[in-house]
Amino acid sequence: MTTSIVPDLATYEVWFLTGSQDLYGEEVLAQVAQQSQQVVAHLDGADAVPVTVTWKPVLKDRASIEQVMLEANAAPHVVGVITWMHTFSPAKMWIAGLQALTKPLLHLHTQANVELPWDRIDFDFMNLNQAAHGDREYAYIETRLDVPRTTVVGHASHAAVQERIGEWSRAAAGRLAAKTMKVARFGDNMRFVAVTEGDKTEAEAVFGAQVNTWGINELVAKVDEVTESQVDALIEEYIDLYDVSSDLLPDGQRHQSLRDAAAIEAGLRAFLVEGGFHAFTDSFEDLGGLKQLPGLAVQRLMADGYGFGAEGDWKTAMLVRIAAVMGAGRDGGASLMEDYTYHLVEGEELSLGAHMLEVSPSLTTSRPRLEVHPLGIGGKDDPARLVFTADAGPAVVVALSDMRDRFRMVAADVERVGLPAPMPKLPVGHAVWRSKPDFRTATTAWMAAGGAHHTVMSSQTSLTTWRDFARMTGVELVSIDDSTTIEGVERDLALGGAFWRGR
Ligand code: MN
Repeated sequence: MTTSIVPDLATYEVWFLTGSQDLYGEEVLAQVAQQSQQVVAHLDGADAVPVTVTWKPVLKDRASIEQVMLEANAAPHVVGVITWMHTFSPAKMWIAGLQALTKPLLHLHTQANVELPWDRIDFDFMNLNQAAHGDREYAYIETRLDVPRTTVVGHASHAAVQERIGEWSRAAAGRLAAKTMKVARFGDNMRFVAVTEGDKTEAEAVFGAQVNTWGINELVAKVDEVTESQVDALIEEYIDLYDVSSDLLPDGQRHQSLRDAAAIEAGLRAFLVEGGFHAFTDSFEDLGGLKQLPGLAVQRLMADGYGFGAEGDWKTAMLVRIAAVMGAGRDGGASLMEDYTYHLVEGEELSLGAHMLEVSPSLTTSRPRLEVHPLGIGGKDDPARLVFTADAGPAVVVALSDMRDRFRMVAADVERVGLPAPMPKLPVGHAVWRSKPDFRTATTAWMAAGGAHHTVMSSQTSLTTWRDFARMTGVELVSIDDSTTIEGVERDLALGGAFWRGR
């Protein structure tokens, strides 16, 4: 039985719209249709494009363009639209359609032929390969109307083009996930904390996510309904998947702790499934009748594609869910992460990220250990948790801050590294990473941007995808990567302040 709520991206569609007009006659239009079907075949057949690319009949007038855009808006499984002006499609006929479209847009600037046939080129060839000016006419009206879109240039058979379209289609899937998301908060924000606060009404207006709160004892009631046989089944699964410490095994002294954790998992999962939730938060200050702070349960739910934020942090819970959808089908995962502590040796700086318990085991290919240890916070029983080190390799960390008049996403490229030395006394899931372009620049930029200490760490998505997501959502994004300078970020923040204020 699968418990994952990560969607199969192949079930999502992107519609491919080809622009032309009646000027060329039936024969040319038949060839336009055939050539645009070849473009679609390149994209739909590409491993790098995870969604289904669906060809639509060639568009030649305002009414049919507006009609297909309205149909795309209404189709729940359509995550976005790709447009290509195969021939010269006078762009005034696209105004109504572009104004009607509410879904993410990609403008593919391509043509049917790769090489120019220099020795036999004639005007028939020119007419069938004229996107060079057809797409410029269309791009003018996109720009004039200020239509957010991603422009991709190159032949549809080229790997770089397919990969770029694949990244955008992942962002479009994330956009759909945000628009349809339901977030359950158990309890409120951690007392006195600023950055985890925010305007939940504005979040629904901007991202689409519904963020609402339930009393913790409604979850406790669900946990109380869990049967012994449900707990037995989970214990079996834990033993199968993890190195369970001997004191937690069925004949061990602390087995009851693991049973309590399993009951929390089953109850929490039931609550989320029955409510149709995709993400949730909790708070160690508000655990009501729960016996432990949920650790193992949260870790396993994140690995199944649920978003999670600790201490009431619904914004990070949203990001973890969005990252899980955008990264669907790739190795790795998405997890709550917190910048915890540094290795500050000059020139070798590293960040150690963790949380009290709640880091997703999707970040490791190793076999986690399942252990129970005291937690010096929250005043409950010792909680069960999975202990592991996240795999080395590239990842992004993304945070979301409420700047009063708008949301700001801050995203950074990081390189996760192996543990420089074992940490036998730190029994939590964790990751160690090197910042780009360097520790001082990245950290200065992050703080200048007001980026949160909670992030989603995603090993399945790129900054490119997050930039696309921010653009299609209409949210400011400050990104930090190898090209970042402090001066550049400060300039972007100053200009961004003027740009975003009041939008
Ligand atoms: Mn925290």
